[in-house]
Amino acid sequence: MTYVKSTKGKNLLVYAEYIFEKDYTKNEKTYWKCIKYNMYKCCGRVHTVNDEVVLHKNTHNHTPNITEISTKTIINELKETASSQVTSTPHQIVTNTISTISSQAISGALPSVATMKKTVQRLRRCKNAPVNPSTLSEINIIDPYTFTLNKKPFLLYDSGSDDVNRILLFSTEENLKILSDQCHWFIDGTFKSSPQLFTQILTIHAIKYDTVLPLVFALVPNKTRDSYTKIIKELLNLENNLQPA
Ligand SMILES: [Zn+2]
Repeated sequence: MTYVKSTKGKNLLVYAEYIFEKDYTKNEKTYWKCIKYNMYKCCGRVHTVNDEVVLHKNTHNHTPNITEISTKTIINELKETASSQVTSTPHQIVTNTISTISSQAISGALPSVATMKKTVQRLRRCKNAPVNPSTLSEINIIDPYTFTLNKKPFLLYDSGSDDVNRILLFSTEENLKILSDQCHWFIDGTFKSSPQLFTQILTIHAIKYDTVLPLVFALVPNKTRDSYTKIIKELLNLENNLQPA
């Protein structure tokens, strides 16, 4: 038997291009009602025994749910990919899913791209992400979050769980090389989008290829001179050719 998952995660039976939801089970027989029983008062029913359809009461008062079956299948696949491909971004997962659809009717019936991205993000938060730490010392960044999508080290410095003013520095070897060619750095602190427990996300930009590139990201718990000094010192440890003006 073929199933698709409902938005609440229940198995819906797909049979003869109609969709049914479980009504009840009695004496080893399961009774399924057409999902349009409420909306159209449809009387289409299916009986199954041991995972086999033994009766289809084909009295539907509407056309088969072909588009609905396809969209539900696509959303199911999207959710599975969201859980299995942890290193793909929600944007990549949604665009990959959409690119496989050739029918306009199906793409028209799907939720918007923004809604699908939110679905992926919500699933990620529930299933894969570790619980949010409540103190700086509880932060434990695990793989694959310490690497870039190209599997290059990304978390380059962590001042440690016993540092009350813990600082995390994210960048890549390549980014630091670009930065070492430039003596003009642009440093910007963002406070609003900073994750809980930190006061700011500090970003260091430099100009290359006529573009301002963000190259280093630091999570900083305060705005003190000590923290800024520490960041510069650690950057120089990581790449000693750096030459901030
Ligand atoms: Zn029906």
